[in-house]
Amino acid sequence: MKAVARIDHDRARLVFGRLIKKLREKKYPYNIATLPQEMIPHALRDQPLRHAQFIFYACHFMRGALDSTTAIRQLVALWQRSPDLFKPEVVCMMDVGAIAALLRSAIDYHLDEIAAFWKENSDRLQRLWRGDPRRIFEKVCTADVVYRRVVNKESRACVAGNDLFEDDWGFFGFRKKMAGMLAYFLAEAQLIEPICDIAPAVDFHLLRIMIANRILILTEDAWTGGAKYEDVYDEGAEAVTVYMRTCKISAVEIGDALWMLSTTLCREAPGNWSTGRSRKRGNTWQTPTRIDHNGKERKELPQPVVIDQYSSEQLAAYERTCHRCPCRKTCTANAPSGPYYECGLFMPRVRTRMRVRKALFDELHDHPVPRRHKAGIVQRPTGHEQLSLLEPDA
Ligand code: SF4
Repeated sequence: MKAVARIDHDRARLVFGRLIKKLREKKYPYNIATLPQEMIPHALRDQPLRHAQFIFYACHFMRGALDSTTAIRQLVALWQRSPDLFKPEVVCMMDVGAIAALLRSAIDYHLDEIAAFWKENSDRLQRLWRGDPRRIFEKVCTADVVYRRVVNKESRACVAGNDLFEDDWGFFGFRKKMAGMLAYFLAEAQLIEPICDIAPAVDFHLLRIMIANRILILTEDAWTGGAKYEDVYDEGAEAVTVYMRTCKISAVEIGDALWMLSTTLCREAPGNWSTGRSRKRGNTWQTPTRIDHNGKERKELPQPVVIDQYSSEQLAAYERTCHRCPCRKTCTANAPSGPYYECGLFMPRVRTRMRVRKALFDELHDHPVPRRHKAGIVQRPTGHEQLSLLEPDA
């Protein structure tokens, strides 16, 4: 298969290095960004085994189009109502229908599949690792061992044919990205030692920063027709792991630096706005569709919002995001989330630089800013607070 992206490792060192420096200094946007796992309450953090099990189960929902902040918030609420659903020794005894019903009360997302995985993976965790996800990482020092133990080996049928040991079966629904995510969350919570050569979860957000900053250089075809996640995952993971190894940076730091930049600034940047996204009306999602030339109904690809240099809304958003971004000099592209979450495609386009009026930020008024999550509450700092948080030389 022809590669759709190549890696610029020098650029990766430049961009990642700058972001790590800002993260360590807690400079904008890292002074306002927060991570989804910060919503996990102390009552759970105080029990390391239960905390590790909660993280293991939460990873089941860290897939596809579901926002991880929403997933963790809802799962924390579910844990408070039904803590037994997060104990493998109890889940082993439950039937899939009962698991699905409890999960449905919190998150209605691919439940047929996830409830079955929840049950089977509880069984494997209990039997092979005595119910403790931390044991999966015992005496492990390489990514290969983690992938061998965590990544699902397709089916039981293929396991028997391949003569794998039981503890090499992995877990349903876990691929390399999820294995990296589990290692990241456990290491971030200091429940395991960090593993030096395993990439953090290289998801849409990490790849977006790499594409935008030309660390991943896409082919012409990918620019015009879009690139799928699988087309760029391997190169993205390699760019991050090579940087971690050569610069001795942990997966937690680089994962946090990239993820928080994308979810705090890129998400709000006008060049990443899209029209034609699905909307929820009551309990049903309405997705814009079109009829293709074969008469089949297809999802309509969301379209990027046209940049208007005279739109005060766009200018204000640009001022708060790209204009003050640590990557503003190296970032040349936008990669909106709309086409990715609706149709699974990265659809980059050249980033338009806007002319920011200096007076704009002097007009102190309340306006939406990058989201700040604390205990699940979305806080919007006032214009005065934003001025104290932002630096003139970001
Ligand atoms: S310049 Fe804008 S789009 Fe580029 S990384 Fe920064 S916030 Fe994101």
